[in-house]
Amino acid sequence: MSDIRFEYPSSGSHNGKHEHSSAVACADIVEEAALDPAKAVLVVTGDFDASVRDRLPHEVRAHWTSTRGDGDVGAKVMAVGDEMHVLMHEYYFEPQPDPSFDYEQRNKMIQRLARHESRHVTMEQAGEAGGPTIDRDGEARRRFLHIADAVISEYRAELDVPLQYDVPFSRFDPKDVATWLRDAITQVVTVEYQRHLDVERLAYSIAQMLEIAVKQLAPIAAKRALSGEAVGAPFDASTSASKDWMEMVAPSWSDFENALRAVPPSRDRVAAEQLARLTQQLADVLNEWLRRLGFEWNDTDHTFLIKAWDLYT
Ligand SMILES: [Zn+2]
Repeated sequence: MSDIRFEYPSSGSHNGKHEHSSAVACADIVEEAALDPAKAVLVVTGDFDASVRDRLPHEVRAHWTSTRGDGDVGAKVMAVGDEMHVLMHEYYFEPQPDPSFDYEQRNKMIQRLARHESRHVTMEQAGEAGGPTIDRDGEARRRFLHIADAVISEYRAELDVPLQYDVPFSRFDPKDVATWLRDAITQVVTVEYQRHLDVERLAYSIAQMLEIAVKQLAPIAAKRALSGEAVGAPFDASTSASKDWMEMVAPSWSDFENALRAVPPSRDRVAAEQLARLTQQLADVLNEWLRRLGFEWNDTDHTFLIKAWDLYT
């Protein structure tokens, strides 16, 4: 197993028999995924935010917040010198006072998380994470490439989490992501932009909402790939019946899924040129998706235009 480090112990309970075996199981998962296991560490922390902050450069420490658009951060992978640290909450390993607590379900959830996170270690150690952006690209293109790169990493990690580790709420409900996206864009344009009237900030905010949505949709695409679903195969009835899904996501879904199907799992090594090409292709899909949502972000004349507003009225 990889090393386990305990930080900020909150309860002193992490040496309980059951919990220790669970942490060892996670450290084994990290070791198995790491290309250089001697430089991969499982960090079990009683104060997740503090452990993250300790590992950030001084100048960005103050900006760290544990909540993102996709909810609480359950675990995180960080580079520290030449080591990769997989941070996990201590409370995942704590004994529970409720005698009927379902440890089996919880351990499955923790191991699912460890399997996903440790695959970021694989990609980092292979030099396949955080793909290069090209200086000559304009701002919009760089943004789309950045989002595509993040989505590809999430997708590759998810392809290495076998479906047997699924627990309830492992993934977002597709139609809820679509509803969230419509609400988020409406809020950005009708409330936030009206306050600051800064078009560049508007462009970044809209792209950020798309980024949050597509990062939540990536595990759904991975599950469909693992289940052997055909690209563009219909979703279940409740998703297809959702107006939000049909209008915000469905028109772009097949292109998105198709671009991701060419992406190999994180356990497979991929040449830098191939990864760059896959990232470019997905960036094209995202650009087109944004256009279908009513927005055009142009590098040629540095404009961001609201071309259509009918999805939001
Ligand atoms: Zn991830």
